[in-house]
Amino acid sequence: MASMTLRHAEPVLTGVRKTLTVVDGAGKYPAAPPRDPALEMVRALPEPAILCDRSLRVLMVNAGALRMLGLEAAPVPGTEIGRILVESPRFTPAAARLLHRVMTAALEGGDCGEIPMRGAPTLACHLTLLPGGVLLLRPRLVETPWPVASMDALTGLADRQTFLAKLHAALSDGQPCAVLMLDFRGFRSVNDGLGDAAGDVVLREAAQRLKDGLRSNDLVARIAADEFAVLQPGVDSAAVAERVARRLTARLSEPIQAGGQAVVLVARAGFALAPADGTEAAALLHCAGLALAETKMDGAGGARRFDPRMEQRAKTRHAIASGLSEALARRQFVLHYQPLMDLATERVTGFEALIRWNHPERGLIPPMAFIPVAEERGMIGAIGEWVLRAACAEAAGWPAPLTVAVNVAVAQFADGRLPAIVGDALEASGLPGWRLELEITESLALAQTQVVRGQIDAIRAMGVRFAVDDFGTGYSTLAQLRNLPFDRLKIDRSFVRELPSGLESVAIIRAVAELGSALGLAITAEGVETEEQRDGLKAMGCTAAQGFYYGRPEPASSVPGVLARLNGAPI
Ligand code: C2E
Ligand code: MG
Ligand code: MG
Repeated sequence: MASMTLRHAEPVLTGVRKTLTVVDGAGKYPAAPPRDPALEMVRALPEPAILCDRSLRVLMVNAGALRMLGLEAAPVPGTEIGRILVESPRFTPAAARLLHRVMTAALEGGDCGEIPMRGAPTLACHLTLLPGGVLLLRPRLVETPWPVASMDALTGLADRQTFLAKLHAALSDGQPCAVLMLDFRGFRSVNDGLGDAAGDVVLREAAQRLKDGLRSNDLVARIAADEFAVLQPGVDSAAVAERVARRLTARLSEPIQAGGQAVVLVARAGFALAPADGTEAAALLHCAGLALAETKMDGAGGARRFDPRMEQRAKTRHAIASGLSEALARRQFVLHYQPLMDLATERVTGFEALIRWNHPERGLIPPMAFIPVAEERGMIGAIGEWVLRAACAEAAGWPAPLTVAVNVAVAQFADGRLPAIVGDALEASGLPGWRLELEITESLALAQTQVVRGQIDAIRAMGVRFAVDDFGTGYSTLAQLRNLPFDRLKIDRSFVRELPSGLESVAIIRAVAELGSALGLAITAEGVETEEQRDGLKAMGCTAAQGFYYGRPEPASSVPGVLARLNGAPI
């Protein structure tokens, strides 16, 4: 009934100039202070209504709105809209800022969103732009099924509880919807390296990019430190959800200016659909989380849809995680060594150390099944330290100038101890620094926080070299790498695999090799499996190669045999 009154009133409020002009059946009257008839009419409306100007300064709040907002007195005309909520015990300060933001968004053509209140209901706003630039805001209380917590204070997004409440409401309506979860690989290294303030900047920027990348009736929430969730009502197609997820992860993976530098993080996503994957809010979010956890495992970003088999795989990962510390104590890890070839001389120049877990029941477990789990669970530091010590000790027994390459994970830079660990491993083994090369992934190479950079410089001062591993899978450009302290790029296997026919791969490899040589970098092609690929890569300017064509990773005891086979001379 109340809203009918307003609908009836709406056509009357037209022709607004700087002040309001009222048109009714009888004609047109210029409105002028002190008694503006339009103001008076809105004031008299039984339902809550607020008038403000285009710069979101309040002209009038009627009695219904005062009651609804929990305000004792009418705000002074000219007060900024967000500030009126500050006076109310029913809203948090963040809600006040949010009101200003949703109204700004509405002015730009978006819907006016909902503002959480302390306690159960939410404030929904409907905004009508009246001719002449006066805004009519009609607040309405929306009952939410669960008490709505305040929003995330850092980003102004909904928090986990609010997200679940909204999801529950959407599901109760029987609407199909998509639930997306997103996070960043290596976010912790920003906090650790550049400080919490820079981490906050990254999260706020991420929140903004997510909002910009979505429709106005989608809901974005920050549900954990660097975890975001998106609710897309009405989406029932996996293809659509995946497209959105990929668009958002691509957007989040673009450089973010924080702490005085461009931080590049790889974002990844997982999603689930209702009703296909579940119809209960917490369960659906859990499904999206499982899908995200699987995306994390392959390290390259992107997005996956929930699949019921993920539940079992999560259990397996959990079992792996709980077995990892025991594996270290019981010396169940082993290193295998794969030859690295110089393409000009066709001789072995060194070996890459690749870890395996010699599990008493499961047999040899490959690194991709447990290294990402170790990274997520904070156990990579201890494992990585063991790898460094073992690889240096082994390589010290090889004839110079053979080198050893060791993979280092992002998280190993987190506590700042890496230079000391590398120094210790070299000293204990007697291996000179120049015979050790550390491989770091492209995303870490670019995250390049000052703390990471400082550690790389300290390690380079020991003569140790650095390679960028899996080059081409991240988002860096060669120009970005120019100023970074690397000696080698390792072109990811996915490009080499497409040879000799993949034209795009040919073009990329050629460009990388050309620029790499101009920058004085060695270029290794990974995953060389055939003679044809080897010949092509050499012709394209790669300087080194690694792959099954020369030899698979094998236990340390095979090294003399591999050298004899490839170099014609045993140790
Ligand atoms: P990566 O550093 O890029 O190592 C190369 C991977 O490619 C190895 O897989 C190797 O077996 C495989 N490979 C080499 N040549 C060929 C080929 O011609 N064809 C095919 N299909 N594959 C080839 P692996 O040993 O399973 O290691 C996988 C990844 O696990 C490594 O990729 C590295 O990122 C990670 N990793 C291995 N050991 C360690 C470690 O000690 N620490 C850390 N942080 N990561 C490790
Ligand atoms: Mg490697
Ligand atoms: Mg690689």
